[in-house]
Amino acid sequence: MKPIEAFFARVCDDPVGRAFDEEEKSFSPAALMQTPSAWEGGAFEDFAARAFVENAHRSLVLYVHVPFCRRRCAFCPFFKNISDALFSAEYTSLLAKEIGDTAKTLGSAVRERPVKAIYFGGGTPSDLDSADLALLIRRLRETFFIAPDAEITVEGRVRGFTSEKGKAWVDAGANRFSLGVQTADTRLRRRMGRIADRDEIRAVMNALGESGAALVLDLIYGFPEQTEEILLDDIRFVSEETGIHGLDLYKLSLFPGSPLDKAIVKGEFPKPPDFAQRAKMYRLAYEALVAHGFEPFTPKHWRRDAKERSVYNRLAFGQTDMIPFGSGAGGRIGSISLGNAGVLADYEKKVLSGKKPIARLALSPPRNASASFGRLIDEALEELRLPALERWPQSHREKGRELLSQWREAGLLHSASGQDEGMRLTCAGNFWAPHMKKLLIDFAAQTG
Ligand code: SF4
Repeated sequence: MKPIEAFFARVCDDPVGRAFDEEEKSFSPAALMQTPSAWEGGAFEDFAARAFVENAHRSLVLYVHVPFCRRRCAFCPFFKNISDALFSAEYTSLLAKEIGDTAKTLGSAVRERPVKAIYFGGGTPSDLDSADLALLIRRLRETFFIAPDAEITVEGRVRGFTSEKGKAWVDAGANRFSLGVQTADTRLRRRMGRIADRDEIRAVMNALGESGAALVLDLIYGFPEQTEEILLDDIRFVSEETGIHGLDLYKLSLFPGSPLDKAIVKGEFPKPPDFAQRAKMYRLAYEALVAHGFEPFTPKHWRRDAKERSVYNRLAFGQTDMIPFGSGAGGRIGSISLGNAGVLADYEKKVLSGKKPIARLALSPPRNASASFGRLIDEALEELRLPALERWPQSHREKGRELLSQWREAGLLHSASGQDEGMRLTCAGNFWAPHMKKLLIDFAAQTG
């Protein structure tokens, strides 16, 4: 059993860079590893209507995947298919059929369970023709019961996201556009395989702003050749010149085998900023966003007015049913996880046969104690806090109080008078949140 000191953070003048020795890593502690069971409940058509009704107490979202892009970005592991001249009409017709057939299978409850968010993700949904994506939005709205305040997001990239498309999709019901800008530095964008330059970003964002939809974009920190100055100028540019309501800030994930990874191995790019440099970039970006009037409202999402709600992203983490549409889309109903065929030809064949194009079905196991605590931590982290002590395992509350007090002293949590306030993550706490989650799971599993 580890002593409590093993979970303490370093008290220093740079908690973002040095609170812990270990880099933040993708999170998979052994205590959380629960293998899904093979599904033995038959085909989607056999169980879906019953499961859809039985889980009516859960939130409901619809996810539509559009795995097509004009070209592959250097850092991207998700690229699947080229969006050629014919793809929009053909893929739209498959999606429209899948929507209709799925609704028939789910039964009359599709007109009763309120859908809180629809998300068109990819890939590049904005590569669809304006009439095609408008048709899909309308088809979903005619088929399902869409809550009056539902968020309907279309993801896209700058090149080709015309004001005509923006208007057509808002007329059809979309109310949020999310653009993967990543960086506004024209030279760096070109190096990463992005086509549009800074002037085009400004023009497109300003034109889309006139549609009335909430506008958000993604930025990435940690690209090779991206300096602190470039990152800070990106933040200044998008804050002052694009009229966005929110943004998402992500760390570069360098995927093995991606074009960027290969280019670094060949020496065509320098190595990306190291951990200490990335930590500094994060701190500088955090401070700059606050200075430009943004507030963080989940670990990666920032907003500067109430128009940005990020409903889909927040629900996707919780007790939410997600009905998938499109090749490679994933979802779930209750504890049954659903995965549509990722190979386009397989997807097409199944859709044309009238069946849900499912390629993977699995049953999530009942959560063990660590997984339940992990879920509690995840839900709290989504609100930039840790779970209240009274929700921790009874046996760990006293030591937990000591641990939290030490983390406050180390600058990971706000020090404040009220207990509730004292659970909120600081900039450093936000940066180290995945590592803190790992420590808390270990703490609950190993101390007593
Ligand atoms: S547009 Fe998006 S999904 Fe497509 S290659 Fe670029 S990063 Fe990947």
